[in-house]
Amino acid sequence: MNYKTVKHQVSNAPTHMVGDGFRVANYIPGPKNYSQETSPFFLLDYNAPHQFPPTPHRKGVGSHPHRGFETVTVVFDGYVEHRDSSGGGGVIGPGDIQWMTAASGVLHDEFQTQEFSEKGGLQHMMQIWVNLPARHKMSAPKYQSITDAQINRYTIDDNGSMARVIAGELNGVKGAATTFTPVEMYDIRLVQDGEITINIPVSHNTMLLVTKGTVTINGSTRAAAKDFILFAHDNERISIKASEDSSVFVMAGEPLNEPIAAYGPFVMNTQQEIIQAIDDFNSGKFGRLD
Ligand code: MN
Repeated sequence: MNYKTVKHQVSNAPTHMVGDGFRVANYIPGPKNYSQETSPFFLLDYNAPHQFPPTPHRKGVGSHPHRGFETVTVVFDGYVEHRDSSGGGGVIGPGDIQWMTAASGVLHDEFQTQEFSEKGGLQHMMQIWVNLPARHKMSAPKYQSITDAQINRYTIDDNGSMARVIAGELNGVKGAATTFTPVEMYDIRLVQDGEITINIPVSHNTMLLVTKGTVTINGSTRAAAKDFILFAHDNERISIKASEDSSVFVMAGEPLNEPIAAYGPFVMNTQQEIIQAIDDFNSGKFGRLD
């Protein structure tokens, strides 16, 4: 059996704050400055487990725009409250996912809940930007609130190992999210010595982030928490074996193969579309947050 070759491994990327509420390490575009190699994923910010001290004011990021892609926020620990100008919003907690399609444009804000900020606590989450193909960049915004209970599980063994299928399909178990292009997203939880072999099409850009524990990939590559791995396009198969109780977040998708023009919160195909996005934002066309 041949495995997808491990092409790059990035360990423990440096952290920075997003607003005052999210302490993240950036893996995409990240230290290797991935761009087309990770398409359709344009950004991966990972807030590894971090203890926030109590504070009287709510922490996070105030109103800002997005256009041309989707933001996917995955919470493992903590609580995020969000509002957007298309009317989407709510609070997501442990296990929940907020899949926001910005597309033609939204304004939104992202905060810890007031209660979480006041009490302080453990925060562990990630945000992924899923780029949209040119034909959908100016589609209407939409919002999928996906609770932990709505995410189907694939049972790996009788000891408690399982995978939460967030997008795509894993051995017949279908993902909870609707996507514009083929995307696989699995949150795999393995108990010690638990093992899974998955198959992802050769054509898909395929990557994973270890979010807990230590695993061996394809029988030979050791990867610990905060390690990111990008695979080559040579085979379908990946095996993941846990040395201790571990979690691995697998992301894969069909590359868009379109030019990327990006500026801050806008991800488009041409520089002209970026200038248009800035003009539209400045003239209030992204709506309002009341
Ligand atoms: Mn945002």
